[in-house]
Amino acid sequence: RIVSAAADGPNEQVIEAALRPKKLGDFVGQERVREQLALVLHGALGRGRTPDHVLLSGGPGLGKTTLAMIIAAELGQPLRISSGPAIERAGDLAAVLSTLSEGEVLFLDEIHRLARPAEEMLYMAMEDFRVDVVVGKGPGATAIPLDIAPFTLVGATTRAGMLPGPLRDRFGFTAHMDFYEPAELEIIVRRSAGLLGVETTDDGAAEIAGRARGTPRIANRLLRRVRDYAEVRGDGTVTRESARTALSLYEVDERGLDRLDRAVLGSLLRKFGGGPVGLSTLAVAVGEEPETVEVVAEPFLVRQGLLARTPRGRVATGAAWAHLGLTPPPTAPL
Ligand code: ADP
Repeated sequence: RIVSAAADGPNEQVIEAALRPKKLGDFVGQERVREQLALVLHGALGRGRTPDHVLLSGGPGLGKTTLAMIIAAELGQPLRISSGPAIERAGDLAAVLSTLSEGEVLFLDEIHRLARPAEEMLYMAMEDFRVDVVVGKGPGATAIPLDIAPFTLVGATTRAGMLPGPLRDRFGFTAHMDFYEPAELEIIVRRSAGLLGVETTDDGAAEIAGRARGTPRIANRLLRRVRDYAEVRGDGTVTRESARTALSLYEVDERGLDRLDRAVLGSLLRKFGGGPVGLSTLAVAVGEEPETVEVVAEPFLVRQGLLARTPRGRVATGAAWAHLGLTPPPTAPL
């Protein structure tokens, strides 16, 4: 799905690596997070100590991995990357922690998915730079204390609410990453175009930014699709015109809705007069699983103020009627 915020495979990850800003100053948007983080990092550098552990929360594609890399770079330290799901046992975590060098930055993506025993080991590691490695089983089991080098943990989560309190409390600095404004995404698109060697007009970049669902990863992906179009059908320059034509070819409309989003909204309006209608009924009408409608399409439609979830079912807003160019029935919608 071209408008999915998740990375879509190894090829995309290679391209993303090339587009990642390397310094805090090149990181676009998230002004407050950037300023606060600069203080945390430079304060620690000035004292010659490792900074507090950092928790980054926010949806996929908003720049958490990028920021972790920047933190390591600003501190002049190497970065170790792992993730909650990759660490299955406490022993896996002990292996990572015991091989960290002093000051190293450890990035744990999807930290809310860490297995319980590993999570408990992490508490002690974060607080005292020490872990207890348990050897043996049953009554003969012994805990062997192991010192680890002072390190900085950067944890990332898309679900801050799912993080257990004790873990959340051990982060000295928590940053919440928000969706980006179109003007910020426009800067990101122009910057990426520069790095990819693509000529882009200002209104071409703005057109892409407006359809990127507040997410840099999506903006960069749309840019690459428009570039293909501009190179094959035009003179290679990304203009408003080429962006519009290319993105309508990919069924991404001017607000960033794709085919599925529009099908859900269209059904809700045309078949159910704007609702309220139950999720499963709506899902049958678009020929999708209820879960797909709920998880894939709805969050963005709700965020856009096009759809509301009410106790009586899904309801379209006035903006939804306007967006699809339809006239609402006489009984006023939301
Ligand atoms: P996350 O880890 O939150 O899923 P990433 O850090 O992998 O997101 O970012 C996805 C892509 O978006 C990367 O290519 C990155 O360069 C780009 N990106 C994210 N945030 C920014 C930003 N603030 N400025 C410029 N590019 C960004």
